[in-house]
Amino acid sequence: MRWTGSSGRSALGLLVLLSSMGGAAEGAQASARKLYDEAHAAETRLQQSKAKTAKKSEWVRVAKMYRSVVVSHPQSGYSDDSLFYEAEIYREVYRRFDDDAALERSLDAYLQLATGYPSSKWAARARLNRGKVQLERRNDRKGASAELGKVIADFPGTPEAAEARRLLDEMAPPRRAAAAPGPERETFPSGVVGVRNIRQWTGTEYTRIVIDLDDEVKYTEGIVQDPARIYFDLLGARVTRDLASRIFPVGDGFLQQIRVGQNKADVVRVVLDFQNLSEYNVFTLPDPYRLVVDILGKAPAEPAAAPPIEVADLGPAAPPAERVVEPAPVAVAAETPPATEPAPKAAPPDIIRVPPPPRKDGYSIVQQLGLSASRVVIDPGHGGHDPGTMNRSGLREKDVVLDVSQRLRKLLEKEGFEVVMTRDKDVFIPLEERTAIANSKGADLFLSIHVNAARSTKPRGTETYFLNLATTPDAEEVAARENAVTTRRVNELQSILQKVLNNEKITESRELAGRVQTSLSSDLYASAKDPRNRGVKTAPFYVLLGAQMPSVLVEIAYLTNRRDAELLGDAAFRQKVAESIAVGVRGYQSSLARTTSTETQAGRVAEKEQPR
Ligand SMILES: [Zn+2]
Repeated sequence: MRWTGSSGRSALGLLVLLSSMGGAAEGAQASARKLYDEAHAAETRLQQSKAKTAKKSEWVRVAKMYRSVVVSHPQSGYSDDSLFYEAEIYREVYRRFDDDAALERSLDAYLQLATGYPSSKWAARARLNRGKVQLERRNDRKGASAELGKVIADFPGTPEAAEARRLLDEMAPPRRAAAAPGPERETFPSGVVGVRNIRQWTGTEYTRIVIDLDDEVKYTEGIVQDPARIYFDLLGARVTRDLASRIFPVGDGFLQQIRVGQNKADVVRVVLDFQNLSEYNVFTLPDPYRLVVDILGKAPAEPAAAPPIEVADLGPAAPPAERVVEPAPVAVAAETPPATEPAPKAAPPDIIRVPPPPRKDGYSIVQQLGLSASRVVIDPGHGGHDPGTMNRSGLREKDVVLDVSQRLRKLLEKEGFEVVMTRDKDVFIPLEERTAIANSKGADLFLSIHVNAARSTKPRGTETYFLNLATTPDAEEVAARENAVTTRRVNELQSILQKVLNNEKITESRELAGRVQTSLSSDLYASAKDPRNRGVKTAPFYVLLGAQMPSVLVEIAYLTNRRDAELLGDAAFRQKVAESIAVGVRGYQSSLARTTSTETQAGRVAEKEQPR
């Protein structure tokens, strides 16, 4: 994050000058961090106490703590966050206590943030929120449209700009809609949540459905068997005519049908029909608001589904391959049917597999290990309108990570892995879609590639994450940045995580993260003791949420550190990074192969067939 003083208020400019003249940047940074952490901790205590939230003075006290960060250390990198939280707190004070002065303070803080810190990650949202407050609280349509217009002009392609566009459209006089022949965005009375779109990714035993909503919505859910279906009733909601009239094709995967309709005047019902299903998870993602449904199950066996090469030596009369080689199907299946039913897509255990013919230069590593189904998803972070982290010399995270990912792809493919890229060019892919791609393709591993950023220019080095609760404030910040949300949202996410976390995959993901991190740090830094080896960490990342395979997120190096940024700009370094990650992946896969080959066949099948 960069602090841009040019358009800041003169008082701030003066403070910056004084501070930099003093040459005590590091001390100021530490002091700013301390103040910010104290404010943040006070806010957490406030939010958790019913007694405290009932008192206006408690809210104001926390707002003032955030303000003190801005006043004492305007250039610290903590000031834009502090302004944002200050504004949000005063907005909440207005809402709870109907205090007009608080509303003014909120608007002021947003404005100071938007003008004084134009390159802050919060700048677009500050403008947008200003517009919303002016519109909703003050009915100031002129002020609001000026503000929303700025969001669209200054932050094109962002979710904030899309929301500003929607709000402006809603403000427009209705006859404009009648005159325009093209599809206008359908609007609803305030308080009614529009259900805009349904997106889905379906494989043979996994489906992710995302329901796009205008705002947060209360919902009830239910599951019915024979035929298997899940339904969601979205309360206080209205489906758009466009969505209601849409026909969702019956897929050949595991999801059969999606039905959506206005069940009652204020209830939208979404029904998902499946061939059968074993379990599902629902969670919500904010900004923009969407409901995500992950469903696991099994499609019924189809004889044609098994690739011929895998059943070739089983004889023509063989039933599905899994049954032939499964020595103890009853015991396993009896525990938790139908989840343990083998799917047609599930590959038979490795030992009976006929490997593809060797390449000219002999068997690939994957073939030698008997891992012919190893399918790796590489996820280059960000893309399109989302550049990720940027530095002063114009190096962008989205470009660096795409380059590393393409190099990694080549290396893994050469070794015989099958590689799926979530993006292979400069396009934007929503975070929830990236996991969905991996899950619906039945991938074995998921690698999300990123570069890091910090408020200070000091931190450098490499860290690898797997999905779990954040254990340090730094990890929380990395998650907030990668999720494009506030650290407050990251805290909310922890409760979702409890529901979605899959313990089995945590262990495997930790192992994979360890392999990748060890390989990176020993190749890049010669010694594991080098401080640039920042180790394996945990945090709640949207992009890893619901992943059905071992999955990690790599932060290669810090774009905010001058020397790290130089390295990231160097193709030889990026190649080395790709090679190190490939070594980690191969090490992880071969450790799996060693484990399985020493177990009995019964043990292996039982392991494979555990419900996920
Ligand atoms: Zn990133």
